[in-house]
Amino acid sequence: MNGILEQIKEISARHDIPVFGIAGSSFLENAPPGHRPSDLLPSAASVVCLGAPFPRGIFKCGARANETYWRAAAIYYRNFDAIIMQLARIIEETGAIAVPVFGCFPYDLKAKGDFWGFVSLVKMAEAAGLGKTGKNGLLFNSAYGPRLLLGGLVTTAELPEMAWPNRDEAGCPEDCHVCQEACPAQAIDRHGTVDRVACVKKSMKSPLFSHLMGSKKYDDSEAELINLVTGVDDHSMYTCIKCVSMCPAI
Ligand code: SF4
Ligand code: SF4
Repeated sequence: MNGILEQIKEISARHDIPVFGIAGSSFLENAPPGHRPSDLLPSAASVVCLGAPFPRGIFKCGARANETYWRAAAIYYRNFDAIIMQLARIIEETGAIAVPVFGCFPYDLKAKGDFWGFVSLVKMAEAAGLGKTGKNGLLFNSAYGPRLLLGGLVTTAELPEMAWPNRDEAGCPEDCHVCQEACPAQAIDRHGTVDRVACVKKSMKSPLFSHLMGSKKYDDSEAELINLVTGVDDHSMYTCIKCVSMCPAI
């Protein structure tokens, strides 16, 4: 499997991805049913996770930050997902199976405004040593704070655990509460538990999805499908990213 590691390093270097790691998938098998690596791929053995930072300036352009982030995310997610597929294909050359876990969507819509990734990328990144879950619910990395875009894959290949660069990730500083205090929806409590529904209500607007649902031409069972085809990529506008833009670590 050394050849695979070299290829992961080479792809990461070529695409300017500074952070990546591998963990055994068993570390994530305590996730809620339906969201474990083995739910995505029954004979899962390893997870691979990669992280690339958004430029700082995306979050530092004041009143233009939401729209600037909207454009950046639409471009970045697609590019990153393509790299993850390239990696999956390379791993499959060894005879293993590899299922991409894309940067943001598709996801399950558990309830109104409650989106769940098929497997949590934040937990995958944490298991792979890329950082710790931050108080704003995003991955907190010692070099980039909470501005890493994540992508990964679940594979049947038994890959050796590793993290690049080797870092002893400590997570958010204990005495920092900037994101909790800045959140306009009071969606982050003092312990760093994020009320996802309150956050989504404040931070995203999906005009096309809202219009279609308001037309009553679809029933609730179709809401998830309609959301996926009308509410992702540049179909949804970001209306808040304060818990990243105000973070002293970005
Ligand atoms: S995106 Fe906005 S609403 Fe959501 S947790 Fe961050 S600061 Fe709060
Ligand atoms: S503002 Fe940044 S460093 Fe501070 S608690 Fe929030 S995510 Fe962590």
